[in-house]
Amino acid sequence: MTQAFILVDYSYDFVATDGKLTCGAPAQAIESAIYEKWQTYSSKKLPIFVMMDLHHENDAFHPETKLFPPHNIEGTDGRKLYGKIHDLYSVEQNEPHIFWLDKRRYSSFCGTPLHQLLQERGITEIEVAGVCTDICVLHTVIDAFNLGYKVTVDENCVASFDQTGHEYALKHFKNVLGMAVDTHS
Ligand code: ZN
Repeated sequence: MTQAFILVDYSYDFVATDGKLTCGAPAQAIESAIYEKWQTYSSKKLPIFVMMDLHHENDAFHPETKLFPPHNIEGTDGRKLYGKIHDLYSVEQNEPHIFWLDKRRYSSFCGTPLHQLLQERGITEIEVAGVCTDICVLHTVIDAFNLGYKVTVDENCVASFDQTGHEYALKHFKNVLGMAVDTHS
């Protein structure tokens, strides 16, 4: 068991049309691909880490407060996984290979036990999916690169509200981080 699937910020607030900080249609378009990916990992009992942005109401000290409208507030439905992925998680959440980790910064490794949990399981290869390609996915894969993980991204499983940013990030993954980017071509 050396592989794991890391799903970043695929919440209602970031994906649904009326989400508080939504990527909109591009994020909704990857739902089925993420669903299939989840099932592939889950059928082999490979670890799946749901990494979920966490904010508190009126947090004057959080650096995102000045940058973005309130989103992914603790205790709200906006922090639930989106659509079919929420349904999948609801069914499988108590299985030992399924993890939910709250995060408070863009990177899934910042202030979370993700690295420790991966190391304990001898995991050296991770696949990262979710939103946004050029924000939280980007920061997560940069940290993974610096920590020595072999990282894969499937371009059908990442999305952004900013198409230019999305394309820049995919190029950066491939050309600067040397990652395997699955383009299905
Ligand atoms: Zn946030």
